[in-house]
Amino acid sequence: MFRNLNSIIQILNIVIGFFFFLSLLYSGIISIFEKEKRAAAFLFISMIIVPLIYILSAIYSYPQESIISQILFFGTIGVMIILFTPTPVKREKTVSPLKQIDERDIIFSRTDLEKDSNRFKKYYQTHPEKKIYDEKFRQNPGLLSNKAKHFDPLQFYAADSSMSITAHLRTITDGELAKQQTKLPSKQIADFIRGWAKKLGAKEVGITKLKNYHFYSHGGRGEDYGKEIKSNHKYGIVFLVEMDKKMFESSPKGPVIMESTQKYFEVGSIGVQIAEFIRNLGYSARAHIDGKYQVVCPLVAKDAGLGEIGRMGLLMSSKYGPRVRISVVTTDLNLPADEPCVDNTIIDFCKMCKKCAVNCPSNAISHDEKQKIDGIERWQINSEACYNYWTLVGTDCGKCINVCPYSHPNNLLHNFIRFGIKNSFIFRRMALILDDVFYGKKPSEKAPPKWMKSDK
Ligand code: SF4
Ligand code: SF4
Repeated sequence: MFRNLNSIIQILNIVIGFFFFLSLLYSGIISIFEKEKRAAAFLFISMIIVPLIYILSAIYSYPQESIISQILFFGTIGVMIILFTPTPVKREKTVSPLKQIDERDIIFSRTDLEKDSNRFKKYYQTHPEKKIYDEKFRQNPGLLSNKAKHFDPLQFYAADSSMSITAHLRTITDGELAKQQTKLPSKQIADFIRGWAKKLGAKEVGITKLKNYHFYSHGGRGEDYGKEIKSNHKYGIVFLVEMDKKMFESSPKGPVIMESTQKYFEVGSIGVQIAEFIRNLGYSARAHIDGKYQVVCPLVAKDAGLGEIGRMGLLMSSKYGPRVRISVVTTDLNLPADEPCVDNTIIDFCKMCKKCAVNCPSNAISHDEKQKIDGIERWQINSEACYNYWTLVGTDCGKCINVCPYSHPNNLLHNFIRFGIKNSFIFRRMALILDDVFYGKKPSEKAPPKWMKSDK
């Protein structure tokens, strides 16, 4: 009987060996396509060594053969059980921010302030503590400047054209309502909006009931500067589009800003069309897009169930990580709201990961625990340090987005890892170690695709 059991275990070890061979071969091929040479090398070496251990232990005779086969087999099963058994994650209390953000305080509004204008003087009279930082970035070449460190005429002018067409969209975020309301069940309209937004290019769509803290207290850009934000809109529809990982691999160089500006346009145009559609149904609706926000998009997206706010202060979608751009449509049309995001596995991962903080060239991302800010525990980045770096290099950097383990492309390999990360805290710890082994603690910068370079 023991002999039979041993034969079965040896056959199973051969099967496990082949399973590992195929899985590692597939992962290695994916890594080659992703141009991840280091990961591919590790995977192909493992593809030879790991299956050999299982297969040779089963087909050769040696002393203590049966004991070693059993240790190998039951050890493997044990490790699988440990890695894949779901473990509960401590649910963190979702606490709402206590106060609204004033858009005039965000770095982009401060950048817009024209030196020595009345707005400029008034702002720094009331916020003298900010002047010292802002003076620093005002002396730098600036975003998309031809004097910036990573200036590349093709890449920078391409990004500039995406920004310019987004600026046109800002003029049509709001408009006239149809005279007559179309009465349809709210679920039917919500399903249509979700389906159509996805057809238009959104990867994720969420709906939430709006709270006070979703809105800025005052506008900070253009003609809205200083105006108190008042809205009777009760619902926010959130759209996420995915940014291409490849465009981030040469961060902080030009492809990053080409991608982010293009995606601001894409997600903005979805928002503008959906808002127009809702107004055609006879309900008030306004799109919130780059440079024309009344709401804080990541907070609305989190409450619409689309992600968590991670260490780098951006929305982290569990499928796309921080590689997303967001737009929102607010409306008085009643819609069925989604559940807020309570994916604490993202926060648990961020607590131990710190890869974005380690790789940030301006040390803008905290290595510490979350702090209590405006009533909620969160990480806050040093936006002045971050923006100062942007104005030196001329792009929006994106190194933190590139290195984030959640940013890997959407394919079977990385989706399997995402599943494990969500499922078990032991898997999360293993995934973090393997991410450093395969991709490096400080992943090296890759060259932009050839067609993008001005100096071929
Ligand atoms: S790099 Fe790590 S710590 Fe930073 S946001 Fe991504 S998962 Fe969180
Ligand atoms: S964009 Fe660059 S500078 Fe800014 S926080 Fe991310 S890594 Fe740091």
